[in-house]
Amino acid sequence: MSHVFPRHTNSELPIAAGGDGCYLIDALGRRYLDCGDAAVSCLGHSNPAVIKAVQGQVEQIAFAHTGFMTSEPAEALADLLVEHAPGELDRVYFVSGGSEATEAAIKLARQYFLEIGQPDRRHVIARRQSYHGNTLGALSAGGNAWRRAQFAPMLIEMTHIAPCYEYAEKPEGESSFDYGQRVANELEAEILRLGSETVMAFMAEPVVGATLGAVPAVEGYFKRIREICDQYGVLLILDEVMCGMGRTGHLFACDHDGIAPDILCIAKGLGAGYQPIGAMMCTAKIFDAIRDGSGFFQHGHTYIGHPVATAAALAVVGEMTQRDLPGRVAIMGEKVQSALVAALGQHPNVGDIRGRGLFRGIELVTDRDTKAPLDPALGVAGKIKKAALAEGLICYPMSGTRDGRLGDHILLAPPFIIEDAQIDEMVGKLSKAIEAVI
Ligand code: PMP
Repeated sequence: MSHVFPRHTNSELPIAAGGDGCYLIDALGRRYLDCGDAAVSCLGHSNPAVIKAVQGQVEQIAFAHTGFMTSEPAEALADLLVEHAPGELDRVYFVSGGSEATEAAIKLARQYFLEIGQPDRRHVIARRQSYHGNTLGALSAGGNAWRRAQFAPMLIEMTHIAPCYEYAEKPEGESSFDYGQRVANELEAEILRLGSETVMAFMAEPVVGATLGAVPAVEGYFKRIREICDQYGVLLILDEVMCGMGRTGHLFACDHDGIAPDILCIAKGLGAGYQPIGAMMCTAKIFDAIRDGSGFFQHGHTYIGHPVATAAALAVVGEMTQRDLPGRVAIMGEKVQSALVAALGQHPNVGDIRGRGLFRGIELVTDRDTKAPLDPALGVAGKIKKAALAEGLICYPMSGTRDGRLGDHILLAPPFIIEDAQIDEMVGKLSKAIEAVI
């Protein structure tokens, strides 16, 4: 009997025993095309450069506490990220994952305003139907009703505005651009409602991942958000934990929107699964306020800047930048979109096929005209996940939230090294799984 505490407490999972490029191999030798391990394994499972970097670093020095020492890979990785980062992001704070990155971002925003003498700034505004992590601060910022429900009395009060969710929420007759401006302007209204001198940050995912299934904002939305933040002195925190690091066809997802945040959170693809690592990047303005003020960021975890994790990420980002993997992602992403539309575009329960780069979402509905979500009691997302696994495909079906109800979508996030034949395999196996369930 297993003593591991799995998330689905009554499920029996195959044992991961090996990896080969885009495939995971279980202990019985079965191969699974890995297109959805939560958008982590962007380089596939057997990248020689990353494996070598990890091995070399363990042999050299595995751990040194950052209270006493920095390390060569941490320094080099911070340089590389800053070299490619949008806007004026200038400092990198390494953590062990996505929730740690968003927690650190919230605490950094708070400390920044204390340092510059604006202690009343304490509110974070985020968006409904977003996900920023499972620790209590990150969960407070997130707007995923299902994940929040049983912790609601313990969460910090944060307020939420509408997401930019064109498929489900744009009224007919309104242009995409006007819709984007209108929902962005909800931020201004919320800042004014709370009192602009009390708001410290707005947090959003440039492309919404886990909660909605690869939903990018419409043209102009984030430009307007940036303007509003600037006008009211509110920090813009972008959560690129899932959509960042090349996933959308740009190294940083916000490059597509032509804006840059004050604080940026990354994880998942940063370590590509070879090591657990995330990072929070911020501008010199924020860093300097702390350096010239109290001189100490009141936050920290034991494993920040871990040498082996940063060595792995250094190799990952090296692969991405030297091989222009984001460029490849943009090309292969278009092929995935076309293949999905060709195979599933006419399915009566497929309402929308969307996304950017190799970050694609399929929204399942009861009726394509009304766009009504499926009855959550049917558990369609979970059944598709199971059927796909039986076919030898790992994808990421989820129940999202729409109008306070649960809806179902499937997220696809294949490795950046995926080939044409594997796109066909992915779409074929997924179509079979969907047909078997609905
Ligand atoms: N933010 C976003 C956008 C995410 O998708 C996730 C994970 N799905 C997180 C934060 C939390 O990351 P982690 O699970 O590594 O804590």
